[in-house]
Amino acid sequence: MGADKTSTSRVNPLRDLKRITQTDQEVVWHPYTQMTEYAAQDPLIFQRGQGSYLYDVRKRRFLDAYGSMWCNVWGHCHPELVAAIQGQAARLCHSSLFSATHDQAIDFAYKLVEYIKLDYRFAHDPVTLNHVFFSDNGSTAVEAAMKMALQYQNQVGQIKRQQFLVFEGSYHGDTVGAMSAGSIDVFKRKFNSVMFTVHRAPYPMQVDPDERPDNWRTAERSMEAQIAGLSDRLAAVIIEPVIQGASGMVPLAEDYLARVKKYCAEYGILVIHDEVFTGFCRTGPLIAASPELVEPDILCLGKGITGGTLPLAVTVATDRVFDAFKGEWSEMKQLMHGHTYSGNPIACAAASKNLDMIEEHKLAGIVKQRSRELSILLRQHVQKHPAVGPIRQRGLAVGIPIKNAKGQDGYEARDDAIKVVNACIEKRVLLRPLGNVITICPPLNIEHEGLEEIVHALADSLKALG
Ligand code: PMP
Repeated sequence: MGADKTSTSRVNPLRDLKRITQTDQEVVWHPYTQMTEYAAQDPLIFQRGQGSYLYDVRKRRFLDAYGSMWCNVWGHCHPELVAAIQGQAARLCHSSLFSATHDQAIDFAYKLVEYIKLDYRFAHDPVTLNHVFFSDNGSTAVEAAMKMALQYQNQVGQIKRQQFLVFEGSYHGDTVGAMSAGSIDVFKRKFNSVMFTVHRAPYPMQVDPDERPDNWRTAERSMEAQIAGLSDRLAAVIIEPVIQGASGMVPLAEDYLARVKKYCAEYGILVIHDEVFTGFCRTGPLIAASPELVEPDILCLGKGITGGTLPLAVTVATDRVFDAFKGEWSEMKQLMHGHTYSGNPIACAAASKNLDMIEEHKLAGIVKQRSRELSILLRQHVQKHPAVGPIRQRGLAVGIPIKNAKGQDGYEARDDAIKVVNACIEKRVLLRPLGNVITICPPLNIEHEGLEEIVHALADSLKALG
């Protein structure tokens, strides 16, 4: 930084607010942000977090109702996670997993594999998701899964199986492979020239957990026909179990996941579950698909994996997939993929502590209870508003569709949702719109009072729609 712009951490934030704001606009390019619009607003400059709250430089307190991009599990700066991070940072900050290892990767991978088995304990066949491949964000976890599937099919002699089937509304990340597997046009359209073609099947939405939608049979037949028709070409099917996040919180029809697995198994096509969003108790259980007893061949996890503290992600493979990569070096069967910070020890220490806490505090039960409370509150105070469509919820993942007066839908129709979200921010509750859908994804250990605060701010802010 130049002499007249010394580090912002050493200045009095309130006195220098104008300068910090200006420096932010000059040097920080924010993701998914129209910088012209951003520069015209007063930014929220956070400095501290505690529990479900974030504090900005003006010492204002905000409820983090979107869990800092859907990843917060235990609130901010939970003392146990902070201690695990500090302890590990003092011992070893980083060493690579390329043909070497460290105690934190071993410890976390061992625990994770055990906990996955525990989650699937009622499965008919033994669960063999035993091999943890580390990366550092959700997109790369999916990217690695896709490469695993392609190379697996090649190495078991199915050389023509080099394509993917994905689902309408899918989102799997922003790297080119994961983006190609996505189906949301606004994220992709500027990059079409470098993406590869995938096949798409319907993802039937079920709003009411007890009532399967009418279209689910038609959707199933279409998905089955595609899998059968493409069976000699598909390496894998990639699906977000239980609920799609980025498409605006779209819950999946009951049993559909089991049908996907059934048809894939018939033809030897791999199933990849992208649980980057749903994993780590967002919908209740550690692994969202586990109550349905549907085990994927490859499982992607991220976001809540470190309790929302540090970047880490994993791609977990079954014995069957892993075994196809064994051999002599000269056979070149090894997976040629990895990142400098894959399985960083500090992130692994946080992830390990997160798993201990999930077990010790029985987090799945807490999420079940809180999600029931949130559902009741939303029904009482938000659902009745004429502009609100049927609210979609699984666990502590909620989508509130705002009906657009012009009848528009999707990402283009965001104006009304933004009005409501901005009014919420004025009431010190942070929410995030996805097109015309307002999403709520609070820290999973949020107190009942926190839920009330969110719902009342939202109900009040709906008045912004007139
Ligand atoms: N998959 C799913 C289902 C996601 O929701 C996301 C992120 N929202 C990703 C992958 C990508 O994760 P990341 O942002 O960590 O790259």
